[in-house]
Amino acid sequence: MIYDRADSLNDLVAARLRFVGQRYTSGKREIVGLLIEVGHPVSIGDIAERLPKMPRSSAYRHLVDLQQAGVVRRVTASDEFARFELAEDLTEHHHHLLCVHCGRVIDVKPGTGFEASLNRTVGQLARAEGFVPQSHRLDVFGICATCGRNSAFRS
Ligand SMILES: [Zn+2]
Ligand SMILES: [Zn+2]
Repeated sequence: MIYDRADSLNDLVAARLRFVGQRYTSGKREIVGLLIEVGHPVSIGDIAERLPKMPRSSAYRHLVDLQQAGVVRRVTASDEFARFELAEDLTEHHHHLLCVHCGRVIDVKPGTGFEASLNRTVGQLARAEGFVPQSHRLDVFGICATCGRNSAFRS
């Protein structure tokens, strides 16, 4: 089951790369395979840990190419804590909780009621500006449970 999904995702990724004139090289395949397998945003450090043979500079270059092709998106609380995940239209719409202390990113899926009301409000705001909305991102910044247990963050 999971492999069917990975196969069709890989076909989509290959098509997107072709569209911008990129080849789906083995390095890019390794990165995309890792992102499919892990299923949540990863840092360059996570990639280095899971793909020890790939130099960090290559991993970074592949990520830049994959972002340019619309396959990967960057999720981050700050430049210090870059994380990467598959583009949302390849996976599923969701939001993020980002820890500004340790960089942890937690994927969250609000209910359809929240999405409907958010889309309604955003639609009204956009229409007033003559703007046609296509999608939204909602990243919430704060302190994760682990960092919250650290006394420095207790109020
Ligand atoms: Zn944290
Ligand atoms: Zn949403």
